[in-house]
Amino acid sequence: MEIIEKQKAFFSTQKTREVSFRKKALKQLRDEIINQEGAIAEAIYADFKKPRFETFIAETQFVLAEINTMLKNLEMWARPERISGNLANFPSRNYVYSEPLGQILVIAPWNYPFQLTLAPMVGAIAAGNTMVVKPSELTPNTSAIVEKIINKVFDDEYVAVVQGGVEVSQALLAQRWNHIFFTGSTQVGKIVYESAAKHLTPVTLELGGKNPCIVDETANISLAAKRIVWGKSINLGQTCIAPDYVLVKHAVKNKLIEALKNKIVASYGDKQSQSPDLARVVSERHYSRMKLLLEGQQVLYGGETVDEDCFLGLTLVDEPDLDSPLMQGEIFGPILPILSYKDESDIDAVIKRYEKPLAAYVFSGKKAFQKRCITKYGFGGGAINDTVIQIANKKLPFGGTGHSGIGAYHGKTSFDLFSHKKAIVKRGNWIDPPLRYAPYKLPERIAKWVKHLF
Ligand code: NAD
Repeated sequence: MEIIEKQKAFFSTQKTREVSFRKKALKQLRDEIINQEGAIAEAIYADFKKPRFETFIAETQFVLAEINTMLKNLEMWARPERISGNLANFPSRNYVYSEPLGQILVIAPWNYPFQLTLAPMVGAIAAGNTMVVKPSELTPNTSAIVEKIINKVFDDEYVAVVQGGVEVSQALLAQRWNHIFFTGSTQVGKIVYESAAKHLTPVTLELGGKNPCIVDETANISLAAKRIVWGKSINLGQTCIAPDYVLVKHAVKNKLIEALKNKIVASYGDKQSQSPDLARVVSERHYSRMKLLLEGQQVLYGGETVDEDCFLGLTLVDEPDLDSPLMQGEIFGPILPILSYKDESDIDAVIKRYEKPLAAYVFSGKKAFQKRCITKYGFGGGAINDTVIQIANKKLPFGGTGHSGIGAYHGKTSFDLFSHKKAIVKRGNWIDPPLRYAPYKLPERIAKWVKHLF
């Protein structure tokens, strides 16, 4: 592919190794995002009516914060890191060099179409790589403005945009890259992993899962409801770390349901489709999928639909059958199943049905219960007494485990992800202990003691 050859040639000029070059690139990108912030919000609104406020906090400002983190720390992170030496290589100075990997491919999904295209890119730029990014075909307006911004700020020998759907994605995946960063579904993640394996290309897979939200009888129910409703309604539930379903202690189930209804009304009114603060389902396919998931379910609240606008309001579902389609895969929309439990073995039985999800949440006043929930189950990351907010701290790694993903990013984790850590020992010549050299004359007990030198 011509663009990869071009980027390879540019990479080999060593230009991207200069920290000043990377910082300049990040600053230019930052300025252009600031210039275009209004237009970006309009594009995402045109794609699926994401409220402007949500675009600012979760798309543009999120990426700007990522850029600022890199600008603030890059000199320090990019410097060779001095590591203490040991007796095995005495005398020496030991370092870890952070080296750019080379050509990166970024494939993005539609749900946070700006953030999830640009945030990995920022990390890859900070670490000194060239890259090709493929935005989602499901959000054409946003993908167009992403391309406009990137083309204005960068030459394509450094950062290029390739637009297209599945075929284009597969054509890109067939090429040889130094790293592939993919965000999307677990299903497509497997395809990406398989393509990457052909070239032994390392991957980061940011995938999804069925995120539980546990509420016990000691939780602050009103606040829990407010935070669950928020986490489930931003982006109309189309958030990879949104709570997928609630597991509530039987004794407080009704109280929680009442509180959830109240918070939904308080935030979005009685007729949710009239609220300017809810996005739309991104495509007719996903909208029909969502409606099918509701078939045969006991709707406790919500269920409002507007076909011509692909709108489904926040919908609470009572005790769905665990074998129903609603409880099979990730919902990725505004439906919130409410399951109750009597004791912790019921929680185990539900959570263990699923692959490790990307997130999990626990609302409880009991420290021991909180600790059990966060340590007992495998999941990418989460929060105690809140939802989604773990993503807002750049110092926390963001990523899944098992079927919810491989690898993590954000802040320093991104810089490290897109760097090769090259270990270098600089030996001194003034002394050369004879221990390791043949002919081996030292007794075996000395060889067996050597672990103390490492
Ligand atoms: P998707 O997997 O359908 O598509 C993602 C990207 O892959 C798109 O650019 C698309 O063009 C490409 N693609 C689709 N099918 C392909 C194929 N057969 N071969 C090669 N490429 C292909 O995902 P989506 O619907 O855009 O996004 C929703 C999913 O993404 C959800 O599962 C969600 O949990 C997950 N997600 C994860 C994160 C995270 O950070 N972990 C963030 C957002 C979304």
